[in-house]
Amino acid sequence: MGAPSHSKPGPLSLNTVTVKERWGLKDCIEGCARHGIPGISPWRDVLHAMGVKQAARAIRDAGLSVSGLCRGGMFTASDAAGRTVALDDNRRAIEEAHALGAACLVMVCGGLPPGSKDIDGARAMVRDGLHAIMDDARAAGVTIALEPLHPMTCADRSVLSTLGQALDLCDELGEGSGVALDVYHVWWDPALREQVRRAGSRIAAFHACDWLVPTTDTVLDRGLPGEGVIDIPGIRAMVEAGGYRGHTEVEILSRRWWAADPDHVLREIKERHATVC
Ligand code: ZN
Repeated sequence: MGAPSHSKPGPLSLNTVTVKERWGLKDCIEGCARHGIPGISPWRDVLHAMGVKQAARAIRDAGLSVSGLCRGGMFTASDAAGRTVALDDNRRAIEEAHALGAACLVMVCGGLPPGSKDIDGARAMVRDGLHAIMDDARAAGVTIALEPLHPMTCADRSVLSTLGQALDLCDELGEGSGVALDVYHVWWDPALREQVRRAGSRIAAFHACDWLVPTTDTVLDRGLPGEGVIDIPGIRAMVEAGGYRGHTEVEILSRRWWAADPDHVLREIKERHATVC
């Protein structure tokens, strides 16, 4: 730990899902202030529970910056009515991201609709959904950050699986679009270096956590940075070479860490952010 060659990562941000079993958003805001963590990235469930206005004020009063709002997306649905509901929800998410002054709205784009085997159709729904909300996002000044998810979650969470795919969409969507790069989802990709270079300044968020071996759950068994096999500083160096100067957001979906005392988790995250991120 703490090799002298380790360069300083961008400021730490706490993604609230990391302590979601024990802390609401108010606890997270107070916890960040108490532990000297300068950034926060709320999920919308805890945001709604606290109230958007109250949350925005409390975050401002605590001097925290918002590295992202999680999440919009989920554009895929079995019928047109379902897709319209998704668009309405994304428009609300854009308003919320604007109210929080969030650096971006993170997009988890959606998997296959129930019973469907039409992956091309699902990808078309994602593309259409993104096109439909971009004007709203641009008007609100909210960056839409497409987060490619590991292909193991393709069926149930996101048919957007690689950084290359996300950037193809950004090329179409233009101004106001970017990518959220989560090391958990992209570390395995042989094209990562080339695609990060291609992304350049379009990287809107950098999410850190780790891949455990063996992993026991495809979604809910993430490790803290340093517990697994991902070269986090190596990926961060690629991202910074393209000009990224934003937060290093720690986002841990883990039944194991959810069971731990959140103050302990925040201390661990601070230490690991300083030494292995
Ligand atoms: Zn993420």
